[in-house]
Formats: sequence, structure tokens, C-alpha cells
Amino acid sequence: MTCNQLTDRLLDYLSDDSRAPTRMAARAHLRRCRNCRVYVRGYRAATALVRRFCIDDDPPLCVPDDLLHCVLAALPQA
Ligand SMILES: [Zn+2]
Repeated sequence: MTCNQLTDRLLDYLSDDSRAPTRMAARAHLRRCRNCRVYVRGYRAATALVRRFCIDDDPPLCVPDDLLHCVLAALPQA
């Protein structure tokens, strides 16, 4: 798996129902690629932040899509 393939399949990799071969290939790539580890860590942090604001708050406060895209774009690229 390449860096581009990992970023293309990131949602599949992070979802609970991702196929085992995809998960295994992604994990193998992450073991040897520091850039993708940083990217995945940042992606998880960004999605946790969005989830916190959109789901945990009462009343809900949604993060605008533009802000989410800016955060994700600011993450290191693989
Ligand atoms: Zn990589």
C-alpha cells in the first residue's frame, strides 16, 4: 500500500467494518511510514473534535464544513 492509497482508503481503514485485507495493508504501511502515522493521528484528533462539538454538546454546535476542511488540509500530507 502506498501513501496515496492509504489516504484514499482512510475512512475504510478507520471504520469498524473495513475488510481485513485493507486493515492489514494499512497497518503494515503505518508501521513503516511516519508521515502517514502523523496524518492518521491528526485525522483522528480532528474527527474527535468535530464529534465532540456536534454530538456531545447540548444544544449541538456543529463545526462548519469549511472549518473541517481547513483543519484537514492543514494536516501534514503523506
Ligand atoms: Zn505513508
